[in-house]
Amino acid sequence: MFVGHYSVAFAAKTERNRIPLWVLFIAVQFLDYIWATLVLLGIEKLRVIKGFTAGSMIDSYFHPYSHSLIMAILWSCVAAVAYKPLCSWLGYSYKKSAAFIVGIAVFSHWILDLIAHPRDLPIYDNKWKVGFGLWNYRAPEFALEIGLLAVGIVLYLARNVMPVIRRIAVIAFGLALVVVQIGDTYVPRTPLTSKATAMGVWVFYTLFVVVAFFLEKIRSRKQIDVR
Ligand SMILES: [Zn+2]
Repeated sequence: MFVGHYSVAFAAKTERNRIPLWVLFIAVQFLDYIWATLVLLGIEKLRVIKGFTAGSMIDSYFHPYSHSLIMAILWSCVAAVAYKPLCSWLGYSYKKSAAFIVGIAVFSHWILDLIAHPRDLPIYDNKWKVGFGLWNYRAPEFALEIGLLAVGIVLYLARNVMPVIRRIAVIAFGLALVVVQIGDTYVPRTPLTSKATAMGVWVFYTLFVVVAFFLEKIRSRKQIDVR
């Protein structure tokens, strides 16, 4: 699963919980950030194999610290707890229920990965691996990613007050994510090394976080004035 993860970020944000979209963008990919970091450190392992599955070249054969069920639950708790100090550090309003939502957003990553991944997600340590393997079916997996993203964006637009210009920007960003997913799923490319793949994760995911940050800055002062 790739851009489909962001559906949860868009869907989770409401006027009530006021969780910044960029925070949710990190949350839904938190496990992959840990994964990419551990791959760069040589602790977790992956291979990039052309045609490994129809929809992905990544054979993530050793990722117990980022992608086992037990660790996913643990990382979700860590993120939920870390949300409070993050809010006080950055001067954001904090709600306990929002911290809970951040934790759920982190855990959603594992559930969506469970659908897409081949049987490579361990329950505990590197054992009892599960995965429904939708990546073996390119078009259905692609359709699920795009369908989820669309639902997430529709919910975001419906449940948040924002100026028209920002609505347009959100839709444009959604379309850009669709293009990225088309590139990832359908454009053939030579396999990268595992380290380059992990670097790519860091660069692209962070780019999306930055876009999410600036999206919610678009005419935000004017919005406050209107209230
Ligand atoms: Zn993942």
